[in-house]
Amino acid sequence: MQKKMSQDSELARQQFELFERIYLNLKVNEKKYLKSNSIEYKKTLASMQEIILPAIKKNCPVCKIQCCKLHCPENKMYIAGAVGCFEISDFLLVRCDTILPEPKYENAKKNLCPFWAHGCILPIDCRSLPCIQFFCDKLKKELNMKKIACHLEHAKSIVNKCTIQKLLFSETAMHS
Ligand code: SF4
Ligand code: SF4
Repeated sequence: MQKKMSQDSELARQQFELFERIYLNLKVNEKKYLKSNSIEYKKTLASMQEIILPAIKKNCPVCKIQCCKLHCPENKMYIAGAVGCFEISDFLLVRCDTILPEPKYENAKKNLCPFWAHGCILPIDCRSLPCIQFFCDKLKKELNMKKIACHLEHAKSIVNKCTIQKLLFSETAMHS
């Protein structure tokens, strides 16, 4: 498993570096389209975090499982294939006006996400869609999942709307 995680982590790293190059090469129009969606995505995540954070602060620091691992069989999770679980759309939405912390790729040797350092080092409104969708059973029991589901649906709809194709044809998208 360690060998597979190392290989997948290396591919994930290359993909993440490609995402950064794509962001840096966006044109003015494309960044403008991205910006309006990014504001909305981050606003939604911030509202969600307000609901979630008290339970996270209470449970996660003392949790024996600690789910931000590349391979977490206890929660049926394997996330070595994408840095911070980002795909291109959610990456661009969070990267838009924010310089993200450097991923700690050496974490792979300890079976940890590259954005983990005694907690997630990404800003609370700069998480990937898979990361904000995951709730362990303990958190599910404590949180108002109905309220969270509304925010989640909205975040998903923004990510689905903001595809790379839409971005590259942003002049058309801005008027649609
Ligand atoms: S989300 Fe749940 S499983 Fe993950 S660290 Fe927190 S309490 Fe533990
Ligand atoms: S990006 Fe943050 S929340 Fe997501 S798995 Fe990594 S450390 Fe956990």
